[in-house]
Amino acid sequence: MEARSNIKGWCPSALRPMQAEDGLILRLRPWLGELSREQVLKLCELSERFASEELELTNRGNLQLRGIAEHDFDQLLGNLADLELIDEALEAKTGSNLCVAPDWSQGDVTQRLAEAFKASLAELPDLPSKFGFALDTGAISRLKEVPADIRVEKHESGSFLVYADSSPLGLRVNEDDMIKTCHQLTHWFAEHHTSEHRRMRTLLGAKSLPEKFTRDPVSGENQPMELGVHKDWQVIGVPLGRIKATDLHDALSSSSATQVRLTPWRSLIIDSHDIAHASAFILAQDNPRTRVFACVGAPNCASANGKTREIAERLRPQAGETVHISGCTKGCAFPRAATQTFLCEGNHFSLVKGGTAWDQPSQNNITLEAIENMVNSS
Ligand code: SF4
Repeated sequence: MEARSNIKGWCPSALRPMQAEDGLILRLRPWLGELSREQVLKLCELSERFASEELELTNRGNLQLRGIAEHDFDQLLGNLADLELIDEALEAKTGSNLCVAPDWSQGDVTQRLAEAFKASLAELPDLPSKFGFALDTGAISRLKEVPADIRVEKHESGSFLVYADSSPLGLRVNEDDMIKTCHQLTHWFAEHHTSEHRRMRTLLGAKSLPEKFTRDPVSGENQPMELGVHKDWQVIGVPLGRIKATDLHDALSSSSATQVRLTPWRSLIIDSHDIAHASAFILAQDNPRTRVFACVGAPNCASANGKTREIAERLRPQAGETVHISGCTKGCAFPRAATQTFLCEGNHFSLVKGGTAWDQPSQNNITLEAIENMVNSS
């Protein structure tokens, strides 16, 4: 394995961990988001031994360990490699972040296309580390709000639509041409992006796509998977996207689950219906806790202006409303508009209504008690 680099602000990965206030952050990208029961159980044990007590789910369906001491890192990495949780081909290719719709099945088009994508990694140009692809090729489009720069969806004609993030138009292609088209669009991005425009969305604000990538309309359909019991699996929510390793270990070891899939919606898919420790999870989509978002905040993140989770855990927004508690204007936990975004400012908060953490607040000096009153009684 290549030597790692600890560059602050870098998008973390397994071989390039990021330094945070509480230690190194290591991000795992299990292939197709799937882990075996044994991998999850051992991962929980490694997290308890080498990292903080919590595992974090990311908004691209990856999994993070944080709070890792510098002197423990190499041993942890070796253990993760033994568990086959480090894909050197993906790690070696910056910007090859791939998110697939997590309800893929063995041998289906999503799996085929993902394997073809991986086999063609060498043909990708150099890309910014946060660049990524969403393979949303199941029967229903699910990943429209998941961060990605190039998206692929099933088209109503039965073919596929490849399109640049934020573009209302794309190019319809058949399965055989899908990878080639993704590469062409990626190369166009690589040729034109600048240090100011390091993501597709911002680049398209400054430069138009070639006509060939803007021929067919993108559908508005988007249905993230909801929490609950399905025929062959159960989707369980992880409050604020963080779960204690001991809770996950206990829940899984007392169930009959053999596999776990990560989703980009702060949830896990397990292939059984007998998950225990229900109190550690959110089991139904109508639970108000599904509508609360908060980053890790202080003391774990050096940019945080206060504690985020303390207040987030006390909030129960009304149906149809979302509440985001952010430690700073970066808005990591919910990079979209929320009904109410509260920005930490020490012991007080400011409020952005219907906007993001980086928008102009309409109210300042709000106390914790006032937030509870505003959200829980609104
Ligand atoms: S939003 Fe700010 S405080 Fe919160 S995790 Fe991101 S950088 Fe840290």
